[in-house]
Amino acid sequence: MQIGVDLGTTNSVVARLDENGDPEILENERGERKTPSVVQFPDDGGVIVGTTAKRNQMEVPDRTVPRVKRHMGDQDWAVDIDGEEWGPEAISAEILKKLVADAEEATGEDVEEMVVTVPAYFGPKERNATLNAAKIAEFDKEDIELLNEPTSACLRYGIGDTGAGTVFVYDMGGGTFDATLMNVTPDGEFEVEGVKGGQRLGGEDFDDELYDHVRGEMIDAGHPDPEDNSAMKADVYEKVTDLKHDLSQTESGSISPMVGPGDTFNIDLSRDEFDEITEHLVDETFDYVDALFDHEKVDATKEDVDELLLVGGSTRIPKVQERVEDYFGMEASKGVDQDYVVAEGAAIQTELEPQGGGGGSIVLPRDIGLKTVDPDNDKETFEMILSEQTPVKASESKRGFRKIDKQSPKITIEILEGGKALAEENDKLGEFELKNLDEGSDPEFEVTFTVDEEGKLHAEATNLDTGRKAETTLEIGLTEKEIEGHIQRSEETHDDSVTRD
Ligand code: AMP
Repeated sequence: MQIGVDLGTTNSVVARLDENGDPEILENERGERKTPSVVQFPDDGGVIVGTTAKRNQMEVPDRTVPRVKRHMGDQDWAVDIDGEEWGPEAISAEILKKLVADAEEATGEDVEEMVVTVPAYFGPKERNATLNAAKIAEFDKEDIELLNEPTSACLRYGIGDTGAGTVFVYDMGGGTFDATLMNVTPDGEFEVEGVKGGQRLGGEDFDDELYDHVRGEMIDAGHPDPEDNSAMKADVYEKVTDLKHDLSQTESGSISPMVGPGDTFNIDLSRDEFDEITEHLVDETFDYVDALFDHEKVDATKEDVDELLLVGGSTRIPKVQERVEDYFGMEASKGVDQDYVVAEGAAIQTELEPQGGGGGSIVLPRDIGLKTVDPDNDKETFEMILSEQTPVKASESKRGFRKIDKQSPKITIEILEGGKALAEENDKLGEFELKNLDEGSDPEFEVTFTVDEEGKLHAEATNLDTGRKAETTLEIGLTEKEIEGHIQRSEETHDDSVTRD
């Protein structure tokens, strides 16, 4: 069987094509259509993924990992479980394993191949990490296809069947926001023209705002602070999320959080008040959208957009829909449930020819450059070589680099990603050296960076006086040996577990 997997930040969804070729959502072991992307390592061994893990989260926060997707590609991030480090790939693999096991249970068939969706905002590093998660879940590289989430949404809406055009996808889920501008070519291929996104902007931020509001009202009325009591806090969070969902349907709502044993406190909230409390979050999404259209590498304007798609649970918020439609002066395509559109599109992709590079060409999500020193103030700064929004495969060169210490026989080139002015504010991807330089010489250097579709970054520096070169290729992510080690550890951890959710 082939499945489509929306490996989400807060929830994951699995779909396949039914006998009529229509997408169908596969329920998990509990009969749910969405599985919370929460992984927990209980004290007594094993791994739990899903609703139970989410429910127990506040009781065992140190052994629970929500939102691992935010860390994909970050090689410095890991959780420590009983002295063992679990990185983002290993944790994501546990989610995939659970989704696959439940899909097999639901259908009685083995999962042989899968299409896993990733944000268009994911760069080579994050894509590679997702592939490695699938490998740790014991899928061969040939049996996994990565697909851009916005491309998946287009497939579900049948965009591309009707000819060329420009599509804008506004995707706000639980923990992330992605704005993607795509071109559908006359032969029906999807090309990403630009992406902008916030790895930390989504429905949970709306919950946080509501929580702060409700907490303030509770304290003002003389009730205990929910921050001091984890059960109260969990209760308020659950109720504000329900209230947020209700306010997408009704003009006003109320909740009664627990304020003591058997005692509750009623709070009313209108949709207008909710919109006001959360307005700055919606504004923030449009900062990204504006920055996307303003970027010099993006040719299209918002007036060029032919199709507007809303993806992710948070686009059910009426104010969000209204603001997006106002911005583009057009109605968004509707009719497919926002929570399932990505998984269903991935199911459709299982029957199609692979979309190269993750669903059409991809662009670099962040600037890549190197560390330099500003001679005016000695500050270490970022010098861009490859700009964000550059289509991959990409290669750029820059000249004019010189030694800082003229006496030094070498220069070290530090490769940075991020595009922030100060070097230290960026992520370091690696470094290499040009050696054997004459002391006291002052040659000019040229630096070339190339990123290929596989996510490998090749960096080269040339001494323009002598023609001598130094180069490095950064392998982004885990080695095959590390992956093997993770496969084994995961199996051992599962052997450890008693049967449970
Ligand atoms: P996703 O990651 O796409 O599953 O999105 C989940 C997010 O959408 C969560 O933060 C939900 O609270 C939010 N969400 C789901 N349904 C609604 C709704 N009716 N109104 C507002 N937010 C919603």
